[in-house]
Amino acid sequence: MKTESGKLSRRRFLKESTAAVAAALTIRRPGLARGAEKELSRAGVVVLLGPPGAGKSEQSRRLTERYSIPAISTGDLLRDHVRRGTPLGLQADSYMRAGKLVPDSLMNPILEDRMSQPDCERGFILDGYPRTLAQAESLGALLKNKSLPTHVILLDVPTERLFKLLTGRRVCPRCNRSYNIYFQPPKKEGVCDVDNASLVQRSDDKEEVIRRRLDTYQKETVPAIEYYASQGRLERVNGDQPPEKVAAEIEAKLAAP
Ligand SMILES: [Zn+2]
Repeated sequence: MKTESGKLSRRRFLKESTAAVAAALTIRRPGLARGAEKELSRAGVVVLLGPPGAGKSEQSRRLTERYSIPAISTGDLLRDHVRRGTPLGLQADSYMRAGKLVPDSLMNPILEDRMSQPDCERGFILDGYPRTLAQAESLGALLKNKSLPTHVILLDVPTERLFKLLTGRRVCPRCNRSYNIYFQPPKKEGVCDVDNASLVQRSDDKEEVIRRRLDTYQKETVPAIEYYASQGRLERVNGDQPPEKVAAEIEAKLAAP
């Protein structure tokens, strides 16, 4: 009797797990949500490029949720290695402490290690990497032995607009709400709508800092973008529209054959 019920429950277990597997594989069944199959099979590697302030991290977050793939940020990766005290992290730390950029010879093995983790099997997002032509070239080499579709997406935003987006930002020191003097001004100039506190400009948002960041982007990252464009691999998305519209354009690109 005991064996019998054991068998029964085993049979039921098998039946249930088969159902679970089938549920997990619904992407293969006809009649499910349109595009679901494409989504899961085509996410692949998404290289998200764009100037500072174009909304890369927002889009990266949305992609992570939509496709269940991780977003890799080199800054976070470095901090993680430093925190864990790995040999690469220790070397990287000495550069960062000296206020220098971590060289590609260190960054590449760190990236390669991250990309080989199991959660990257179906794909991943690179948010703000590569930042230079040399990095774009070494990324090509890193991705060569992965059989994942790769999309290089540029969030295009006119420089003048970026400048206003970044330098126009003001935040409330009390409730942390943020405004933009050009695009989302508070009801009364200089004060928070919610609590009347005086709004401040973060030091990162000061004009000269922004100008420097945009210059660096122009000098270092634009050549990487041109490199992808010259290979016919650059996919441009209009970044100058509401985040959900930008997201929809990106999804359309990822779904295209
Ligand atoms: Zn406030």
